[in-house]
Amino acid sequence: MPERVLVVGVGFMGGSFARALKASGFKGRVYGYDVNPENLKKALELGLLDEGTVKIEEVKKFEPDLVMLSSPVRTFVPLAERLAPLLPAESTVTDQGSVKGKLVYELERILGERFVGGHPIAGTEKSGPEHSLAELYRGKKVVLTPTERTDYRRLEEVKRLWERLGAKVELMSPELHDFVFGAVSHLPHAVAFALVDALISLSDEVDLFRYPGAGFKDFTRIAKSDPVMWRDIFITNRENVLKAIEAYEASLKKLKELIKEGKLEELTEYLKKVKLKRTEMEKWSG
Ligand code: NAD
Repeated sequence: MPERVLVVGVGFMGGSFARALKASGFKGRVYGYDVNPENLKKALELGLLDEGTVKIEEVKKFEPDLVMLSSPVRTFVPLAERLAPLLPAESTVTDQGSVKGKLVYELERILGERFVGGHPIAGTEKSGPEHSLAELYRGKKVVLTPTERTDYRRLEEVKRLWERLGAKVELMSPELHDFVFGAVSHLPHAVAFALVDALISLSDEVDLFRYPGAGFKDFTRIAKSDPVMWRDIFITNRENVLKAIEAYEASLKKLKELIKEGKLEELTEYLKKVKLKRTEMEKWSG
């Protein structure tokens, strides 16, 4: 078990990790580094951190044995470059980033065998440490993405840490991770953002947002998510996100045709097939 943990980016996920760690009875020290002094101040006031800094050079004095990167994914490479000379050689660096793929290999190039890629499949549309949750990871999956270079002692250490916070760890290659989450997480976010955008352009004559039905509210909750975080995810996982958007466009086009041509039987079959698949999914995720 690590004794000195550094959380980089003390927003919702960084704050939740710190909170969950403390709630698990962790007896060591939890440090924070963030570029935003407000978030750092809030995290300190909430008791999530023992100490924190907005000056990256100061993380050296913390001598962390475990570092949890929890900022938007496009900050990871520049951060790793600056952190690498400041961290003890025997430390472990892992992350909560929503994209793995090439990013994992880039981080391994910079951090060497210190790095173990991770992604908790847990979260909300809310940002900032004030919304962080101690129980966020309980019963949820955390995907770790080892490669040929991964140090198995460190992988085991990260796995045990997540299990201590109540999570169930699954291993996946960085490439498979990005294909899977490009489809089941990044695509739905893209579609939710685009749906709200479509209603903005349909709102010329009447403000449609004054009449949200339950379906619209459910479906677009995730469009309230942080724009910088999602910009970074879409750009970093661009190839898989584009492939998923193309598959979605094809399905929407098919549905549009069935509606346009009034093909009742085929339209019913399309909707039945989808309903069945969506209902079956509940045996996996509740
Ligand atoms: P957030 O906006 O709540 O927090 C991000 C924090 O990072 C902020 O405090 C911000 O000031 C800080 N930050 C930004 N740039 C920085 C830099 N260069 N150096 C240090 N700190 C910096 O966002 P979040 O929801 O906590 O997401 C954080 C990470 O977790 C992202 O990589 C995201 O992909 C991943 N993630 C989010 C969710 C979710 O549901 N929110 C779920 C799984 C994974």
